[in-house]
Amino acid sequence: MVNAKPPKYVRRALVTLQSRGYPVYLVGGCVRDMLLGVRPQDWDICTAALPEQIMELFPGARPTGLRHGTVTVTVENHPVEVTTFRAESSYADHRHPDMVQFVGDLTADLSRRDFTMNAIAISPDGLIADPFGGMEDIRRQVIRCVGEPEQRFEEDALRMFRALRFSARLGFTVELFTVEGIRAKAPLAAFLAAERVRDEVEKLLLTPSPETVYDLVELGLMESYLAPGLPDPALLRRLSRLPRKAQIRWVGLCQVLRRSGCIQSSEHFLSSLRLDHRTIRMAADCERLLDSEFPRDDLGRKRWLKRCGVDTVRCALACYDAFTGAHESRELRRILKSGECFSLRHLAVSGDDLLALGLRGRALGEMLDFLLDYVMEYPDNNRRELLLLLAAGAEE
Ligand code: ATP
Ligand code: MG
Repeated sequence: MVNAKPPKYVRRALVTLQSRGYPVYLVGGCVRDMLLGVRPQDWDICTAALPEQIMELFPGARPTGLRHGTVTVTVENHPVEVTTFRAESSYADHRHPDMVQFVGDLTADLSRRDFTMNAIAISPDGLIADPFGGMEDIRRQVIRCVGEPEQRFEEDALRMFRALRFSARLGFTVELFTVEGIRAKAPLAAFLAAERVRDEVEKLLLTPSPETVYDLVELGLMESYLAPGLPDPALLRRLSRLPRKAQIRWVGLCQVLRRSGCIQSSEHFLSSLRLDHRTIRMAADCERLLDSEFPRDDLGRKRWLKRCGVDTVRCALACYDAFTGAHESRELRRILKSGECFSLRHLAVSGDDLLALGLRGRALGEMLDFLLDYVMEYPDNNRRELLLLLAAGAEE
């Protein structure tokens, strides 16, 4: 059933620890992915060796989360995270364990993990430890908490987001008690730092099922960020038509939330989730464009380009296409390919040319703008002599 083999550098790390007599396993996401036949993104190792013992064995190893017993070792130039078996106790802030205890056995380590599918370990000899029935849940495509859901969400509220994110990514169903646990403990999401919520929502938006945002809202996980009400599921489903890029999917999400009455402004929503300034600006610009009169012809499209630049128009039109089924992005590509002018950068005359004609200050700016509007309307006339004549004529 294990459908992928760890790369050589990972096997070397495992053998290094094993040959010193330390129990050692691959664990977590990489095991889940191997069982699913998907190439793991990263490889996590857990072991009974203590952090100092791990560091002794791997020259150049760095403690990356020593409080949590994590050491990053480098093998054949690849970083691998090696974590000492640990148990966690009492989470006063619903985010961080108050105390981490190193423990000697694997089962205790697996029991602190979030979902059964993430709580499976494989030894270097291929022996599988699966004390919580994770393999069966993977087979049945179910996401289930290890232990009692409400308690696990009390410990760490982020797990509620992770459950939905994994369900969107893998197409798995969240098991009933786990869903009800989320509903019961959703108010604890208010304790999470906005940055962590942002990262989870972003990962979810980039899965093949971004419409799972509906469940986030419906279960109450987004209450700190949204007005009461539910986003339109039909519009959410359209998000998967957008290119798989974070920025554009955030802009698309803002559009859906606005149309559904869940937010008033993209800017306010994205700022509250601590998005970067570029994304906030892009979303605000797209919002303005999509609220304004939609271009009916190339001149209109070029006016948008002049106003907001290529990136923003590309993003706004991608959203428009996704929501309406139109093919405006295609029209945009055609215009860009044609080389037609819509910015001063591509105008056949420059400010210096107009200075030479004796224009100054505001009059110069207005003339450039006039000429740009003119060539946008008559693209074939973006020729230097002609524009200079026009400018000189208008001056007289
Ligand atoms: P991905 O492919 O997205 O990286 P992953 O399962 O590897 O998925 P990570 O966030 O890299 O997820 O975490 C690695 C492992 O650590 C998980 O598989 C899980 O066993 C454990 N884990 C991570 N976050 C939590 C958490 N909040 N609560 C409990 N266990 C967690
Ligand atoms: Mg991982």
